[in-house]
Order: sequence, then structure tokens, then C-alpha cells
Amino acid sequence: MKVARIALDVPIDELFDYICDDAGVRVGSLVVVPFGKRRIVGVAVELASSSKLPRERLRAVERSLPIAALPNSTMALAAFCSRYYRTPLGQVLLSLLPTALRRPGFAPAPPRWEFRLTAPGATIDPDTLPARASAARKLLACLKTQPFVDLHTARAVTGSAGRLLQRWQQDGWVERRAVVAEPERLLPDRMVAPELTAQQSQIVAQVSAGFGRYAAWLLHGVTGSGKTEIYLQLAAIAHARNLQTLVLVPEINLTPQLETRFRERFPGVEVVSLHSGLGEAERLARWTRARSGAAALVLGTRLAVFTPLPRLGLIVIDEEHDASYKQQEGLRYHARDVAIFLARESGVPIVLGSATPSLETTVNARSGRFGLLRLSSRPSAQPPRVRLIETAKHGAQTLAEPVIEQLRARLERKEQSLVFINRRGYAPVLLCSECGWMSQCPRCAARLTLHLGDGFLRCHYCGHQEKIATACPDCGNQDLRGIGQGTQRVEQALAAQLPGARILRVDSDTTRRKDSFLAMDRRIRGREVDVLVGTQMLAKGHHYPQLTLVVVLGADFGLFSSDFRAAERLFQQLMQVAGRAGRAESPGEVLVQTQFPAHPLYQALLHHDFDAFAEVILAERMRARFPPFVYQAVLRAEAVKEAAVFSFLRRAGREAASLASGMTVYEPVPAPMARLAGRYRGQLLVQSPKRVTLQRFLAQWHPRLKPGTSNAVRWALDVDPIEL
Ligand SMILES: [Zn+2]
Ligand SMILES: [Zn+2]
Repeated sequence: MKVARIALDVPIDELFDYICDDAGVRVGSLVVVPFGKRRIVGVAVELASSSKLPRERLRAVERSLPIAALPNSTMALAAFCSRYYRTPLGQVLLSLLPTALRRPGFAPAPPRWEFRLTAPGATIDPDTLPARASAARKLLACLKTQPFVDLHTARAVTGSAGRLLQRWQQDGWVERRAVVAEPERLLPDRMVAPELTAQQSQIVAQVSAGFGRYAAWLLHGVTGSGKTEIYLQLAAIAHARNLQTLVLVPEINLTPQLETRFRERFPGVEVVSLHSGLGEAERLARWTRARSGAAALVLGTRLAVFTPLPRLGLIVIDEEHDASYKQQEGLRYHARDVAIFLARESGVPIVLGSATPSLETTVNARSGRFGLLRLSSRPSAQPPRVRLIETAKHGAQTLAEPVIEQLRARLERKEQSLVFINRRGYAPVLLCSECGWMSQCPRCAARLTLHLGDGFLRCHYCGHQEKIATACPDCGNQDLRGIGQGTQRVEQALAAQLPGARILRVDSDTTRRKDSFLAMDRRIRGREVDVLVGTQMLAKGHHYPQLTLVVVLGADFGLFSSDFRAAERLFQQLMQVAGRAGRAESPGEVLVQTQFPAHPLYQALLHHDFDAFAEVILAERMRARFPPFVYQAVLRAEAVKEAAVFSFLRRAGREAASLASGMTVYEPVPAPMARLAGRYRGQLLVQSPKRVTLQRFLAQWHPRLKPGTSNAVRWALDVDPIEL
């Protein structure tokens, strides 16, 4: 009897035995199996000749999906994630596959082919063909003018294209490949790589000398110092050695820009990008190209880290500090940490790039676990001048007078400005000026946000919405005011102060529609916009050469948050947004409106001094015993009844205390959002100065966590949380 142990996407940390006598199953095979009354897809993890269960109780594998088995490297990566993040292996494996492969009915789409001349084929002159073979002449001429010709185009040239191409393939004149669903945007000329500075060359040499073995590097350089150029040159070296490069970026909107740069530099080389914005079929097609080794360069957001790459030679994580590398639900992995594991397992170098590295990475670089590559700014690109505008001196209006002056000056010079609003934990709400009532979500411990555009109050957490009240529900007062600086409010203030200015608001409300970001991006580049107003989204690597002024509002809110990481994030965000100003010949200016200009964070920002900032914050973290000096896990629980949440957490806490050695186990507390969508939420933090101690503890504790039978408590363990 042949038995396959199958991992299934069910919340049980077990493998399931199935008979697979004739299904051609191997380790890593995707198989369809009956499970209860359903048929589901699973992954074969082990093969055996017997089962603990009697034969009559075993069911059989129905079929293998018509797709190659997952390679050992992917199985190893999944096993690591399952162990480390305490998630059942089946849930890990299935969550890292393209959705199309999770369907029992999966059948691969037949490939569409496209053709090109081989080297011998290219030497043939159409004029040497017999004059009566006019179809062949025309088709050959067509093949000579284009890099690839698909069957559709070929048939438009001549009706006998199918027959001719088949014959020419046999003769070795043409070769074919499967068309990637979305045609590559082909670019006319090969871009010439710019001359590297001495520093850049040295970095490229240093990293590439270590190809073929594991090494982790922190590439620390400010915006505009040329990090992307280093990625490109390293990828070129990898490609020359027939190795694949994986480049991760934090945000889906950044992929088209980077993709274009890579395509320009590597014409004729297959570049695929993978992100959550792709349709199912498209994602599968690209994943398949990457996994077959056909794609030399794979760009993507965090999930791309799991793409099987048979010739992997180099990993790059751009903006490694970015919080979006951490998945906050399901498999709560951190793509940077998974990538480091992958690099080590695969024996390849990994480069973590940032202007403001995470403190975790900073500490690793200081201790020598990561190599440190410093990139100073290019002499041609001067860093922007930062000025702190003390709001107390300028009254409480949305935009202080010096800010308005500078905005007007930019408008006159026909330059662009960006007004950046730090909205984290902060949004405009409706306030009663009589009794102090504020618009509150009925289902969450959150305030409703004022959306003037369509006259609604919305909860940004659960999606609840209601019409803007015309009178205070508590006291009947009709003078209700919006307070706070949401993007819409700032947009209005700007319109009032800068008549005639073309203002564009860029936030998740205005870019929700697919492709709307690209449309906005084109308008900005086409100089159809004078002032941009936006949130986080605009702070990240978009380069607009005409942008010479950045104004930052609401930054102070990041200084006094209950989250100990808020200051780190604020500094990263400010450095990043400051980097948006004046990248071309004209140096930019950054104005930060604040009540606390003397704060060390702002002082470090004034001097673009990441090290000074890191020094202060690391000392604080060390004193308070916070990461990166300790390793944490947080148990999150939620239920409709508050008592259920806390009795579950208290029980978990007692279990923890009975096991703990070398662990600190804290008391259960309400989550920062103590109620969300009608459910109460609580959490329990455990930590240790040693990662291995924490891992050993979790391995014992996690299996004992069981909610009481009667109350519906949902819970999840978050290892290395980035938000508490
Ligand atoms: Zn809500
Ligand atoms: Zn009132």
C-alpha cells in the first residue's frame, strides 16, 4: 500500500493519510482529495508504505493536479514558516500558492505560442527564397523586424503561417515560447547603464564577489543615493551567470515604476512582477514563468517571497524597514525575515536596502551579523533643506503663514509641492461645540471619520457608515464642526489659500479604483498638477523631478502614540517624504509644522542624521526592554462577549506561567482597538531576550491554547508582532 501524507488548508496541525497507489504522487505534488463531503486541494508532504489507520478507513487521492510538484526548497520554506509562525503546514502551503491552484477543478490553459528566428534562421535572406514562395518571404521578413511574433500576427501576414512556422521549427530556423498573458511592454533601445561612483562600484564588487553563498547586507543610503542602480547592476551580474534575481518592494504601486526600470535595462530578458493586484489567471501565468526558471527577474510584493525560483542567485529587499512586509492576518509572516531564511537555505546573498533601516536590521548590522554597505548621497543631489515651523507662533490654522508663502512661491515658479499628512491614529471627526460629543462608531472603539465629499461619516476600521448628523444626538446643538486635518480638509484650506492652483488629492479613497494611481501618476508627471495632498502612499519611492517643496502636517501625533514603534515609523516616514523634494538639479525644501521643534526626532531630521536618531531610540528600547533587544509574541483574542476574551487570555496566561523559563509573561490587556466591528479584543504579550527561548516556549504553549467549548473566541498567535 502506498500512502501519501497530505497537508490540507484546515486549522488542524496534522497531515492526513490517503491511499495513492496509482496517482503518480510525489513529495510536493498538488493533489485533489475528498475531505468530509468536500473535495479539496492539498500538498503531499511525505510518502509512506503504511498508515496508523486501518486500510478500510483510508480514502484515496483522487488525482494529481497537472502541474509539477513543488520543489524541495519551497517545501523547506513552508516548513520553516509553519514552525516559526506556529501555523499549520497545510495553511502555509496553500496560502503561498496562486489561487487558481487551490481549486480542485484546476486545468492549465493551453499555451499561446510566439515565435522568433534562431541564430541560423536570422542569417537567411528572404530574397534568396524562391520567388513563388511569397508567403514564406513575407513571414520571414516579418520575423526579422520583430523580436517575437505571435501566431495571430503571423496569420495576418499569411494564411499558411501555421504550416510554415511548424516546418521552420523542424528546420531549426525558428523557436517558440509560451506567451505570458500580458504582453511585455517592449522598449526600443537598450538603456546604457550609467557610470557608477567609486563607492557604488565597490559595493557592487563586494556583494557580487559573494555570489553562490549566503551573506546578508544592509545597503544604507538616503533617497537619491543610487540604491536602485546597485540593484540593477547586481541583477545584471546575476543574469550574466544564469541566475535569477528576486526583488521585493513594499507596495504594489511601486512595482510598475521599478518594473519599467528593469525592463529598460534588460530588453529581451523576461521580467515578471507578482502582486495582489493581478487577476487569478495572470498571476498563475507569471508565477509559472518564474517557477520554470524562464523569468530571470522577479519583482513583487511580500507574497512573491514564496515563489519557487529554480535558479535563484540574489535577493533584494527594497525599503526593508517598511511595515507592509509584515502580513497582519492568516500566516503572519514577515517577508524580510522569510527572505533571510530563504537566502541562507539557498546559499545566496541578500541585500536589504533602506535610507532608514529598521532597528532590527540596524542592530544586526552593528553586531556584524549583516555586512554594512554605506552609500553617501551623490554630490550632484543635495539633500533637501529641512525647516521646522513652530505652530504655536503662527496660530492654529491648518497651514501656517510661512508654509503658505512657500507654496505660493512654488506656484509662481511653476514647481510642484507636496502636502503630506501623517494620518496614523488621526482623522477628522465631527465635534459638538456645546457638549463635546464626537462622532463614534457604534461597533468599534473608534471615531467615525468625516467624509465631506459625499456627506458620510465612516468607520475606517469596520466600514460602518452613516449620513452626517445635522444636530448633536446628545444635546441637539446644530453647530457641529469637523476637527482635525484629513486630506479633504487640507485640500479645502489649500484651495482657499491658493486660488487657481491645481490641487490633487492622493489617498486610499481616491486611488481605490484599479489603475487610478497610474492615471494620477501620469497627471503629476505631465505637470497638470501644482499641489499634491496625500498620506503614506505618496511618501514612498515615487520620483517627481518638478517637486521642490514638501510640507508635513500632523507629524506630532507620531511622537506621543501608545505604540513604542510610532517614533521609529514617523522618522522613517519623514526621511522618506523629505527625499521626495528636489531630486533633480534644484535642491528641495521640507517644512514640518510642529509644536515641539526641540524634540530629538526633529533635530535628527534637520541634520538628516539617521545614526543620531537610532542612537537615541535604541538606548530607549534597551532601557525599556523592547525589541530589537527582546523577542516577542502576542496572543490576540476576540469575541462578542468581553468576559469570554479575558477568561481565555487569563487561562492562556496561567498555562504560560506554568511553562515559562526565561520568559516574561505579561497580563492580558485590551487591544489598542478594544472593540472592532462589534467584537471585544484583548491580547497577551510574552517575550524573551533570546529568540530560541521564545521559540521553544511557543512550541510548548501553542498546542495547549484552546478556547472554552461554549464561547466563540477567535484567537491567533502573532510571532514578532510589529504592532501591539
Ligand atoms: Zn467601526
Ligand atoms: Zn452636543
